[in-house]
Amino acid sequence: MLHPAKAIGRLATESAFAVLARATALAADGHEVINLGIGQPDFATPEHIVEAAIRALRDGHHGYTPAVGIAPLKEAVAADLHRRLGVDLDPGRVIIVPGGKVTMCFAVLMFGEPGAEILYPDPGFPIYRSLIDYSGAKGVPIPLTEDRGFALTAEDVLARLTPASRLLILNSPANPTGGVTPRAEIDRLVAGLLDFPNVAVLSDEIYSQMLYDGREHVSLLQYPAIADRVILLDGWSKTYAMTGWRLGYGVWPESLVEGATRLAVNSYSCVNAAAQYAGIAALTGPQEPVRAMLDAFAERRKVVVDELNAIPGLSCGMPGGAFYAFPNITATGRSAKDLEVAFLEEAHVATIAGTSFGAQGEGFLRISYANSTENIRRAAERLRALLAQ
Ligand code: PLP
Repeated sequence: MLHPAKAIGRLATESAFAVLARATALAADGHEVINLGIGQPDFATPEHIVEAAIRALRDGHHGYTPAVGIAPLKEAVAADLHRRLGVDLDPGRVIIVPGGKVTMCFAVLMFGEPGAEILYPDPGFPIYRSLIDYSGAKGVPIPLTEDRGFALTAEDVLARLTPASRLLILNSPANPTGGVTPRAEIDRLVAGLLDFPNVAVLSDEIYSQMLYDGREHVSLLQYPAIADRVILLDGWSKTYAMTGWRLGYGVWPESLVEGATRLAVNSYSCVNAAAQYAGIAALTGPQEPVRAMLDAFAERRKVVVDELNAIPGLSCGMPGGAFYAFPNITATGRSAKDLEVAFLEEAHVATIAGTSFGAQGEGFLRISYANSTENIRRAAERLRALLAQ
């Protein structure tokens, strides 16, 4: 009998991957599945980025790189943050990781331990809670509600801070709701955080470029008053359609760089060298492919919301960012999980139950609109037919 450490039993999972596996199995059985489940752009990585990786391999970049990433990539990240957010930072604070998720993992491992409290959004990316539980810390959910467009309020966060709070996880634009926290709310939150100088902030900004209707991204890095305790999570997966490349970055406070570097050395040593060269091409090359992708998402967002609202039993607000719609399903009288299963097994449309993102997600489904408008319309037709039965 083997005795794995108890902490392993506390890890949860990301059901988007389980739904993807089931959708793939149904497709292998000959069913035509429309996947509105997984959160990844349905576009190919732009050609010049792919070429840069091929060139890197041909140029002989086959060995280890520094654990924190190659210098030109870290410099390109710093320059990109300057261009997009107007922040000036030492590239030495940038740590390149194999996917944005790894910055999340490092931040929670760095602050999570028994006795510590970590605040996280609910509904929110499921890995936050999973990692918190793994670390032995107490997870403190911050409820996000439909009536506020799933935007977080400073009061809701500040009311939950205690002397045991060690880390606050924020995510805007948000998965799974598409909610965007307005600047005024972040201003208030930052002002309130000055009374809690021991609380670090992990700001997950992986959807920072996916904003609609002229919204401007607000980064926690733009607040000098808390710059010494903000960990920024961002990366290439969503912006440049590079989910499979496994490339992301964290910007760490000076005081945490050494600890994060050790976590890198103790786990993966460094990120795939060719992927890092591709990352430079992405940041320094033409940004038209990103704009074209965002235009497509903007159009699909309207289509998906209109289609969902036209289905009796569903109602859906207009998300401000990311590529998710989060319709309310309570009028169907069915649970989120029940509908997720019925939609996949009977209508062959993959969606994700809101409860996969926390208890507050009951009564909602996550619909990823990283799919063609044609498929979105066909999927809506199937859902309408199924609910009418
Ligand atoms: N953070 C959020 C909110 C996400 O939705 C995701 C991916 O779905 C990630 C982080 C992880 O991104 P990556 O694929 O770069 O690890």
